[in-house]
Amino acid sequence: MYRTTRSLPIQKQIALVAHDSCKQSLIEWTQKHAESLKYHTLYATGTTGNLLSKQTGLEIKALLSGPMGGDQQLGGLIAEKKIDMLIFFWDPMNAAPHDPDVKALMRIATVWNIPVAINQASADFLLCSSLFEQTVDIEIPDYDRYLSERLG
Ligand code: PGA
Repeated sequence: MYRTTRSLPIQKQIALVAHDSCKQSLIEWTQKHAESLKYHTLYATGTTGNLLSKQTGLEIKALLSGPMGGDQQLGGLIAEKKIDMLIFFWDPMNAAPHDPDVKALMRIATVWNIPVAINQASADFLLCSSLFEQTVDIEIPDYDRYLSERLG
């Protein structure tokens, strides 16, 4: 498929997700970066979002719980270009009942080429990158062009 670009704005829409065994770690990471995160719009799956807003005082748009459809909601928002970055503390040691949704979320984040961190160290790198404070152009699939060529 052809590629085009879209701009990730300075003020970003950031999605936060943590599996149960990683929630405390994401709370601590969010507290550590609260000064930086407060300038952005934060989304999260249900339980993660409610815990984070209680523990950090940050405003967070909590979607449905991940296993109840929240991961899929986030995937839809990513495909609609309404999420610019995904911080996903997933649990590599335990099977999740919603593993297909988790896989789908990672897949769609890759399709739409948004920055993704899947552990605490990479999340630190993302937030401390100079790109985080800038408008950044990313490559995305050019579906409109694909469709216009298919339709002739
Ligand atoms: P939760 O969902 O924030 O509602 O626990 C996270 C997940 O397991 O995807």
